[in-house]
Parts: sequence; structure tokens; C-alpha cells
Amino acid sequence: MTAPRTEGSVTVTATRVLVLNSGSSSVKYQLLDMHDGSRLAAGLVERIGEETSRLVHTPLIGGEKRERSGPIADHGAALKAVADELASDGLGLDSPELAAIGHRVVHGGLRFTEPTVIDDDVLAEVERLVPVAPLHNPANIIGIRTAQALRPDLPQVAVFDTAFHTTMPEAAARYAIDVETADAHRIRRYGFHGTSHAYVSRRTAELLGKEPSEVNVIVLHLGNGASASAVAGGRCVDTSMGLTPLEGLVMGTRSGDIDPAVTFHLMRVAEMSADEIDALLNKKSGLVGLCGDNDMREIRRRIDEGDERAQLAFDIYIHRLRKYIGAYFAVLGRVDAIAFTAGVGENAAPVREAAMADMEGFGLTLDRERNAARSDEARIISASEGRVAVAVVPTDEELEIAQQTFALVTSGSRTGNP
Ligand code: AMP
Repeated sequence: MTAPRTEGSVTVTATRVLVLNSGSSSVKYQLLDMHDGSRLAAGLVERIGEETSRLVHTPLIGGEKRERSGPIADHGAALKAVADELASDGLGLDSPELAAIGHRVVHGGLRFTEPTVIDDDVLAEVERLVPVAPLHNPANIIGIRTAQALRPDLPQVAVFDTAFHTTMPEAAARYAIDVETADAHRIRRYGFHGTSHAYVSRRTAELLGKEPSEVNVIVLHLGNGASASAVAGGRCVDTSMGLTPLEGLVMGTRSGDIDPAVTFHLMRVAEMSADEIDALLNKKSGLVGLCGDNDMREIRRRIDEGDERAQLAFDIYIHRLRKYIGAYFAVLGRVDAIAFTAGVGENAAPVREAAMADMEGFGLTLDRERNAARSDEARIISASEGRVAVAVVPTDEELEIAQQTFALVTSGSRTGNP
């Protein structure tokens, strides 16, 4: 699909991939060159559809960061503005060097286990999954349609957040509810952040000097959204998010695990509607619900000042995290490494310290100095006497999407299935 093209007398090999992550009112993008994995440009359009839209574009091949404010009516206008910014850096989307556009698609259900070249049938299936991903899939579809309109000749690839988790055994993926009801409504545990869990578990194996097939890893993706996964020999066997990203760990604004009876209790006693409870559990719970802040930096600052609500929020967050770590030891049987990633996991040494405290019985011993040292690199932070390695591995979902996209379009296959 991306055989070298001839431009006049010059042969151009298409090695660039544009990665698009389209949200309901935002588009994040990166342009990468898969020749060496380098980043050429990155940026963000936010508040699409409002008067106060903003585009921030950073050329990474030299040149200043640029910002544009003013109304951007829709995703079409947003992508056009991004294309203009890229063109003014000599990186236009009409370039023969662009091999493909890789889209982050949140929900791929059970059908999409691999990155997939997008056609009408694929788009229709992503659309059919809207009821289980009402916030994310519609935005992803708009992003794809917009990019297709801009470059109809170019392969567009969907890389699904759920794909890495499709290897979960039924025992981990099914809820213990009536099977017919579950199947009729596609209710099961899908898991999310899969691109990150895939990337980080592989990088952790690399850090240990091993093949992914040789190691069992617990990945803790702790960002504003947070999820844990148990990865055995490179395959996901359990993850903490479920039908939606609400299940599992305590997050910035989401409750994570909760007795489902809380929902009907609130319906009956507080006369709240389904939408109100949805908003409560997804947007007004977690750290923000517990203490009013969802930024771990602010929570730590408040704790240092003796704030008890911030301390309790932190303790609840850590308690849940440790429960999942213990559970995944049991799921995996043998653990070679625990990897911390995403905004909190990569940066918050106190979270890592509290999560790993008094776990010598599990073979976990943190090296305090290594844990406290700041770095952007993947690194081991466990003490040499620990049986299980503890690592900090910065996640790179855009690189993973670009790599999967490029591998697919250069293989000539329609899915990443071998
Ligand atoms: P993400 O969703 O991966 O972008 O993570 C965002 C979250 O990371 C923020 O809400 C903060 O809670 C957290 N975070 C980012 N930087 C730091 C830091 N230096 N220390 C503690 N937490 C941080």
C-alpha cells in the first residue's frame, strides 16, 4: 500500500503517519516519521464548536510553538486548521511522504482484536458500538469521516483501546449476570487504555532484557483515568476497567468499583435519574468527589499542609490500588515486574511509595532514592534485593498507534491479524 512513489524523477518513500485522537470537542494529533520513530509535529485543538476554540501547534523539527484562538465550528474546520499549520512547516497532509492516518478508537467490541484499515463496514461496526461507548465512539467516527474527506486516497487505520484486552479469558471478561441478558446487550468487560498497556508491558520486558513472551507484568496506568492490567507472556489476562471505563481503580473523577445497588438506591431514595447518577459516578466522584481536587500534585500539597480530606482521598486511592495489585498477583501466579505509567504513575513518587509499602512478602522492595529521582526515561526503581522488578515506564500511545498503523499498511493486510 505504501510502495515508494515517484514524484518526477525522485522516488519518495511514504514513512510518515499522522495520529489523530478525536474527542467530542477536541482533536489531539502527532505527526511521526516511522523511518526512525521521530516526532515531526504535535498539537491540540480544543473547545471545538465554541467561540473560544484554541489550536496549539508545536513543530518538533525546529520553530516556535504557535497558538490560535477564535471560533472553530466543527471537526472539519479543526482538521483543516491542523492541515494548514502542518503545511506551513512544510509537513502538509498532501505530501507523498504521508503513509497513513492512525485513529485512536476507544471501543472496538469483540470484533476488533487488531488494528484495522477503515472501510464502510468497519465504520458501521464502530457506530453499532456507540451504545456501549456513547461519549467516545461518536467523536472518533467524526474524526475518521473528517480525515477521510481530507485525504480520501490514504489508508486510515483504527487502533482500538479495547483490542489488547480481547485476549482476556471468559472467566475474567464475563460479569456474573444472566447470560442471555448480557449477550443481548453486549454486556461484558472490555477494558480500555489497551494501547498504553500493550506499549508499557512490552517496554517493561525490554527493560528487563527479556522477550514479552517470557515475562508476567502488572501494568498500573494511573492518569486522570486509571486502570490496571495483568499481562502474562505479552497477553492481557485481566484488566480493571469493564463495560465502560468506570469500573476498577479510584480515578480523578470516576468512582471505580462500587456496589451496583448504590445506583438503584440513589434512584429510589434520592430520586436521581440514570443520567444524573452517570454524571455523579463519572464526573463528580473519585478524587474530586472525595476532596474537591483531582490533580495529584494539588492533593499532595494539601496533605503536606495537614488537610485531612486530601489525606483520606489519597488513602482510599492507594487502598484500592493495592487491592488490585494483590489480586493480579493471584491472577498471574508469578509476577516479574510492576510498571507504573501515565501522569500520576510516572510523576508521583509518593503514590508509588505508598502503593509498594510493606509488600516485601510479595517480593516487592522499592529503592527510595531511585523512586524519588526524576526522569523522563523508563527505569527500574526497585531495590536489588526485591524479587519483583518495579519500573516506571512513560507511556507513548501515539507512538504505539503510529507503529501499529505503519506495520499494518506496509504489510498489505487489512487487519493486523497474521
Ligand atoms: P494523564 O491523564 O496521564 O495525562 O494524567 C494526568 C494526571 O497526572 C493529572 O490529573 C495529575 O493528577 C497527574 N500528574 C501530572 N503531573 C504530576 C506530577 N508531577 N506529580 C503528581 N501528579 C501529576
